[in-house]
Order: sequence, then structure tokens, then C-alpha cells
Amino acid sequence: MKGGMTHSRPWKRLKGVTDLLDVLDAHLHRPVWWPAETPFEVCAGAVLTQNTNWRNAEKALARLRAEGLLDPAAIPRTGREELETLVRESGFYRRKAETLRVLASYINERHGGRVERLSLLPTSEARRELLSLRGIGEETADAILLYACGVPVFVADAYARRLFSRTGLASGNQSYSAIRKMTERELGGDAGALGRLHALVVETGKRFCRRNPLCGECFLSGRCATGRLLSEQQNGIAEHKDEE
Ligand code: SF4
Repeated sequence: MKGGMTHSRPWKRLKGVTDLLDVLDAHLHRPVWWPAETPFEVCAGAVLTQNTNWRNAEKALARLRAEGLLDPAAIPRTGREELETLVRESGFYRRKAETLRVLASYINERHGGRVERLSLLPTSEARRELLSLRGIGEETADAILLYACGVPVFVADAYARRLFSRTGLASGNQSYSAIRKMTERELGGDAGALGRLHALVVETGKRFCRRNPLCGECFLSGRCATGRLLSEQQNGIAEHKDEE
């Protein structure tokens, strides 16, 4: 056999989400996540990172911070154009400025300026309230609930859906909420574990499980259905070449 991935790596399918978390914990340093100093900063970051990478969201966050605007009381007092200019680097800046304004007003009027008070509501009600705000989708709502309010929910973002489907923990067509609920059931009420899993999944998605996956370098390849399949295909090609 020449080159490619080896046959000898034992194939051991992941038993579930807890098993995945153990493997991720064993192989990766946990990144600092969610990087924020206050609950409202989590909210602003969750809005600003929509449809863009964290680097761009951070630039906009830094500008808001410099102007003293990482504060729900200050946002509604800021002019529309000024707010749009400050968040421009995060992309979709008009929509994001408006979402920040809507979210800040909601936090002020409904929760006395403290988003963490959402945790006092039943989770389904808290999620429903957030989802009723213009510009807040499932991923943003769950990031706010988990990282700003400490509510045990899972952020089943694109990284998670891709990793779960490729490893065989979920089927490719499972919805956001199906993957969220499955993960929450398994990690039952442990907000720390749910946050850690999300952070490690994002890290794995950035380093290995990209759109074009780097299975040959990935520590999950011996536990992952897609990694296994690609390994078998490559070994088949290598053996075929040996026979020629
Ligand atoms: S082995 Fe490949 S498909 Fe599986 S998690 Fe790693 S990079 Fe993704």
C-alpha cells in the first residue's frame, strides 16, 4: 500500500454527543468562548457575527466599546446613521444596527436593562420572546440564552450541523431544533458542557471539518463515518494502483 490514510486505524463509531465531547476535550485546548465581558456584549456579538466571521464582528464590537455603546441603555439614544457607521465592518450593517436597536429596547423595556433576567422565564418562553424580535434567528437566540443568561441550550450552528452529520451523530437533513434538542437531552441541563461542546465543535470546524474536510489530519477520522468512508476510498485507490 502506498500513501493515503492507513487501513490499520481502528474504526470505532461515536456513541453519542457525550462521547464526542470526551474526544474533543481530549484533543483540543478549549478556546475562550464566548469572548465577552458583559451579558449585553454577548448579545451584541451574537448579532454582529451573523453571516460573517468573528474577526469582522470583533472590529464592530471594538468600535461600539470605544463609544461606550455596549450598553442597552445607550444604543436607543444613538442616531441611526451613527450606529450603522460603527457596525459597518461586520457587514449587513443597516440590518444589524436595526437589530441591535430592537434588541436593546426589548431588554430595557421587558427586563429592566438586564438580559440575564431572561433566565427567570421558562426556556421555551424566553426563546419565543427573542425569536419574535426582528433580526433574531434560532442561532442568535440560543447564543444569547446560553452565553449571556446561562440557560442550558445548545447552539446548533452550521459547524455543529456539519460535524454531527458527517460523523454520523445526525442525518444530513435533521433540522436545527432536532439537533439542538438531541444534544440538550444528552447533556441534560449542563450549561457548561453545552457551551464547551459548542466552542470545541466550532474549533474543529475551523481547523479540520471545513467545507472541504481535512480528514487525513483530523483526530476524529477513526470515529467519524465520513472520515472512515474517505479513508476506505483512498486505500482502495492505493491498492488498485499497487495491483497495476
Ligand atoms: S474526519 Fe473528516 S468529516 Fe470527520 S470530523 Fe474530521 S474532518 Fe470532519
